[in-house]
Amino acid sequence: VSLVAVVGMDITEHKRQEEQLRAQAAELQDADRARSEFLSTLSHELRNVLGPLQNGLHVLDRADPQSQRALKMKELMHRQLGQLRRLVDDLLDVARVNSGKVRLDMERIDFRTVLAAAAAAGAAAMEGPGHTLETSWPDEPLYVEVDTVRMLQVLSNLLGNAAKYTPPGGRIQLRARREGRELMVEVVDNGLGIPLDAQARVFDMFRQVPSHLAQSQGGLGIGLALVQKLVSLQGGHVEAFSDGPGQGSTFTVYLPLADGPDAGAGRPAEGA
Ligand code: ADP
Repeated sequence: VSLVAVVGMDITEHKRQEEQLRAQAAELQDADRARSEFLSTLSHELRNVLGPLQNGLHVLDRADPQSQRALKMKELMHRQLGQLRRLVDDLLDVARVNSGKVRLDMERIDFRTVLAAAAAAGAAAMEGPGHTLETSWPDEPLYVEVDTVRMLQVLSNLLGNAAKYTPPGGRIQLRARREGRELMVEVVDNGLGIPLDAQARVFDMFRQVPSHLAQSQGGLGIGLALVQKLVSLQGGHVEAFSDGPGQGSTFTVYLPLADGPDAGAGRPAEGA
C-alpha cells in the first residue's frame, strides 16, 4: 500500500467526519432557533390574551355591572380566559408527553361515538367562519382500543386547524372507514394547503408554516406535535397531505382495528 493511498484514505475519512459534525451543528442551530422563536411566540400569545383581560377589568371597574357594555365585556373575557386555559393545557400536555408521563385510559369502543362527539364539538368552530362540516362513516361498528378523551382531543385539534387554515365559507369533511386491518379517519379541508417542502415538518414541535401566520390568529405550533405523539402512543400513526398552496389539506389518522365484543362467539366471517 503506497503512502499516498493511506494519506488519501485518511483525508476522505477526515472530510466525512467534518461533514457529519457540520450537519450536527446545523441541526442544533435549527433546534435552537425553533426554541427561541417558540419563546417569543409564547410571550406574544400571553400578551395578546392578558392585555385585553386587563383592559376588560378597567372597563368593568367603571361600568354599571348590568349594562350592555359590561355584559359584552364579560363574555369577551370569558372567551379570552378559555383561550388562555387551552394554551396552558397544551403546554402541560407537551411537558407530560416529553417526560413520558401521559397516562392513557385505553378501552375498546365503537369509534363512531368519538366521531359523533368530535363532529358536535367541531360544529362550534365552523360557525364563526361559516364553514360547512360534512361527516361520513359506515353504518356498522368500528371497534378500536383507544383513550376516548385523548382521541377526541386529537380530532378536535385537526378540525380546529382545518377551520383555522381555511378561508371563510370553506368545506370541511370528517370521514372514517375500514382500510384492511386499520381504521382510517380523515379530516379534509379546502383551505390554504401546505407547501410540499413543509409537509414533512408540520408535525415537528414549534413548527409553523410562515405563509400561514397571518391567517393563524395565534397558535404555538404544538398542536400537531401533540396529535402525532398521542396517536402513536395509542398504536396508530398520522399523515399530512396537500397538493400545495391553495389546494386544501388532508390529515389522516390510522388506528389498528380491534375485535368486536362478540369476537370468537361464532360470528360469521366479514363479507360473508
Ligand atoms: P398552530 O398552533 O400553528 O396551528 P399546529 O401544530 O397545530 O400549530 O400546526 C402546525 C402548522 O401546520 C400550522 O402552523 C400550519 O402552518 C400548518 N397546518 C396545520 N393544519 C393545517 C391545515 N388544515 N391546513 C393548512 N396548514 C395547516
